[in-house]
Amino acid sequence: MHEASIAQSLLDVVIETAHKNSVKSVLSVEVNIGRLAAVEKNSLLFAFDALKEGTVAEKASLIINDIPIVGKCNACGLEDEYDNFVFSCHNCGSYDVTIISGEELNIKEIEVEDE
Ligand SMILES: [Zn+2]
Repeated sequence: MHEASIAQSLLDVVIETAHKNSVKSVLSVEVNIGRLAAVEKNSLLFAFDALKEGTVAEKASLIINDIPIVGKCNACGLEDEYDNFVFSCHNCGSYDVTIISGEELNIKEIEVEDE
C-alpha cells in the first residue's frame, strides 16, 4: 500500500529528528503533499495513526497541506493552477507547460512538546 510506505518514511524522519534533538514527545507533524503525488489523505492518516503507536510520535497528529498543481507555460509565460492532469495552457493552449509545484511530498514542520 502506497500510503503505508509514505507514512512509514515520514515517521522514520520524525523519529530520527526527535532522537537527535532529545525530544520526548511529538505533538504534530505538518506535511506538504502536492496533488500530483496522488496520495489518498484518509489512507495516509489511517496508516500514520497505526504506525505511530509506541513511538515518540504516538501523540502526534498529522496535518496535511494540500498543495495545488501550478504550471508555467513555456510559450506565453502564464502561471496557473491545474485541476486535472491535462496540462494545456489556459491562455494559449500550448502543452509546453512546466510543473512548478504539486509534486512535493515533504515535512514542513514538526511540533514537539516542551519539557
Ligand atoms: Zn500559454
